[in-house]
Amino acid sequence: MASSGQQKSCVACENGVATCTGCEKRFCLPHFTQHRQELDERMNEVVHEHNQLRKALDQQATAPHLLSRIDQWEQTSIQKIKETAKQARADLQTCFDRTKHQLINSLDNMASRLKSTQAINLYAEKELDASMQQLKQLQQMFEMPTNIDIADYNAKGSSISMIKVTEKKHFVCRFIGCRHATLLSSMSAT
Ligand SMILES: [Zn+2]
Ligand SMILES: [Zn+2]
Repeated sequence: MASSGQQKSCVACENGVATCTGCEKRFCLPHFTQHRQELDERMNEVVHEHNQLRKALDQQATAPHLLSRIDQWEQTSIQKIKETAKQARADLQTCFDRTKHQLINSLDNMASRLKSTQAINLYAEKELDASMQQLKQLQQMFEMPTNIDIADYNAKGSSISMIKVTEKKHFVCRFIGCRHATLLSSMSAT
């Protein structure tokens, strides 16, 4: 109030009679009324803003920015899983193609061996059992390839467990080579 001592007249018309306690400016009565109306309008604005915010809060069921972060995580994760699954399918196909190729080779070799044994009548129960046994093992390899492994793994920085297809190298070759060797030695011994 002390600072208002210097100013005696209305800021608009120089006929000062009243002082606003807020801004400490002096006004004549009409201009003081006008000044109060301006303050009323500002008060209405504050009430309006308050109501708007309250209404928005009532209507808002969730936190959109945080929710979008979760949505984004979901999308990225699904994309990663899809890519991993695609890669795993492709790897499985490659492994199986290779296994199949090796099994076909084994069967072809066996066919020519059976043909020649048949031609010279060089077979009895022992050879027939061994051949049947080998066929069963080849069939097992074809139906449930034990040389192909599918395992879970956790990618670095990811909480989602991924899967990976790996092939145990040389398993088929060693297996078939071993059976061949046994079969051939038992045949030559006869
Ligand atoms: Zn004022
Ligand atoms: Zn005035």
